[in-house]
Amino acid sequence: MHRLPTKLELQKRDIDVGDAWCDLCEDGLDSTLHLFTECKFAMEVWHRIGTWCRLPPIFAFDVRDLLCLFKDAAGGKQGKRIVQGIVIVALWCIWLARNEKSFNQREVKENNIGGTLITLQYNN
Ligand SMILES: [Zn+2]
Repeated sequence: MHRLPTKLELQKRDIDVGDAWCDLCEDGLDSTLHLFTECKFAMEVWHRIGTWCRLPPIFAFDVRDLLCLFKDAAGGKQGKRIVQGIVIVALWCIWLARNEKSFNQREVKENNIGGTLITLQYNN
C-alpha cells in the first residue's frame, strides 16, 4: 500500500533522503516493490525459503504474490499457515536488514536474516 517509509516514498513527501538507491543491492530504487520482489537480496531470501519449504519456484511481481505463496504449500491447512507465517516474518526481516544497512551500515547476509531479528530483540 506504499506506506513503508522507503526512500522513494519519502522523496514523494519532499523529504531529502539523498539518493534513492537501494542500500542492499545498489541496483534499483528503494521502493517497496523493489525491496521485496526485485532486489537481489530479497530474491535470494525467497529462493532459500522456497527450497526450505519445498515450494515451486517463486516469481513475485508484487508483494501480494508473496502473501499468496502459502497457497502452493503442502501439508494441508497447517502447512499453509506455517508458510504464510514464514513469509510474513521474512518480509519483516528483509525490512530490518534494509534498515540495518541503511542506518547502521551493517551488512546482513541473506542466510542470516532471522539472526538480525534475534539480535535486535536481544538489544532492545
Ligand atoms: Zn535492492
